Amino acid sequence: MHISKIHFENSNVFSKQAKFDIVKNYHYPGFNKASTMAHKLSHALEYDMVLKEFGLKIQKMPIETARKVVDKFKSHSIATSIKKEALKSMGLPEYGRETYNSLKKLGRYSMENNGEFFAEAMSDALMSKNPQEISKKVLEITRKRLGE
Ligand SMILES: [Zn+2]
Repeated sequence: MHISKIHFENSNVFSKQAKFDIVKNYHYPGFNKASTMAHKLSHALEYDMVLKEFGLKIQKMPIETARKVVDKFKSHSIATSIKKEALKSMGLPEYGRETYNSLKKLGRYSMENNGEFFAEAMSDALMSKNPQEISKKVLEITRKRLGE
């Protein structure tokens, strides 16, 4: 789901759209309003993890470094490596039918790219009553990497 003004003006529109998205497997089964916030914050978290890797804070960034940071964020290399580690810990190969079936449970939106995968898995793990196995692994690995 992509948030627009209409979702804030009438929350029924949001709920209807969310239900439709779940039926169409666009989102994982526990997806709700709070999940959207967790999803967006997870994008910010991934961006922050990239900055941390460069030892940077956003205010003190030379433009050439800013370009490298943006490129790294766009490549979603951190999200990709977390996904790989999560699959490995579940005994799943990077590709294949079993892996595909496991990833599909998170919804089609999470399959658009590894950045969306990371944000959907994090919001599922944080907000759903019964998160997917892969989402729990992603949260666990992210917490470890953040030193929590
Ligand atoms: Zn997103």
